Amino acid sequence: AVQFIAVHKWYGAFHALRDINLTVRRGERIVVCGPSGSGKSTLIRCVNRLEEHQRGSIVVDGVELTPDVKRIDEVRREVGMVFQTFNLFPHLTVLDNCTLAPIWVRRMARRDAEDLAMQLLARVKIPEQATKYPGQLSGGQQQRVAIARALCMTPKIMLFDEPTSALDPEMVKEVLDTMTALAQDGMTMIVVTHEMGFARQVADRVVFMDEGEIVEIDAPEPFFDHPQHERARLFLRQVL
Ligand code: ATP
Ligand code: MG
Repeated sequence: AVQFIAVHKWYGAFHALRDINLTVRRGERIVVCGPSGSGKSTLIRCVNRLEEHQRGSIVVDGVELTPDVKRIDEVRREVGMVFQTFNLFPHLTVLDNCTLAPIWVRRMARRDAEDLAMQLLARVKIPEQATKYPGQLSGGQQQRVAIARALCMTPKIMLFDEPTSALDPEMVKEVLDTMTALAQDGMTMIVVTHEMGFARQVADRVVFMDEGEIVEIDAPEPFFDHPQHERARLFLRQVL
């Protein structure tokens, strides 16, 4: 569903992604880890073109990402993204946060959008919060709204950029549980996280990045039990 072929990205003179080759199959769950500044966010932000790459090609669900605007909108509709800092609209209720894009981008009827939003709020286990504003919710609840909001666009792929790292420890589990349920439903997911328990349990493959490169890609068991590269061993010693 997502293909990176010999992708390079620079921020000015800084080489942020170096020869990235990765194919994420439909229904596959990929966890991306690595030290701060290794290019994890840059990598996933290239999938919905929040960042542009300069060399190589990225193909998302059959569409190659090029500067052609119309096709980028097509891709963005299929790719949901959840950020570290929820990014909910503070002046809209939970329900309106969820229905905004379906109504304005997908041209759904409000009634249908609201029905769908309520179903998805139930799926992330907070239907009772629908009429509240984001500021009235806990961090874990806000992140689950952000997940429900992304799902309201019925994406084919979900990107998560450290979705639990801004949360108080007692709220991390509820968000990881939501993501695990989504994985069990067969969603294609690319998740940047330091939650190695989640990686071990949910990931089909773990991608380890360092200095803009993919240093290691492996199934969780071999990756955690026998990392091949010294840089991966060093990283795992720090996070486990
Ligand atoms: P973290 O774990 O801290 O979130 P990361 O692995 O997500 O790190 P990126 O955010 O992808 O790392 O950044 C990779 C490198 O690119 C870093 O050195 C960063 O300083 C640089 N970088 C990121 N965004 C920009 C930007 N807009 N302009 C210039 N440099 C940038
Ligand atoms: Mg990052």
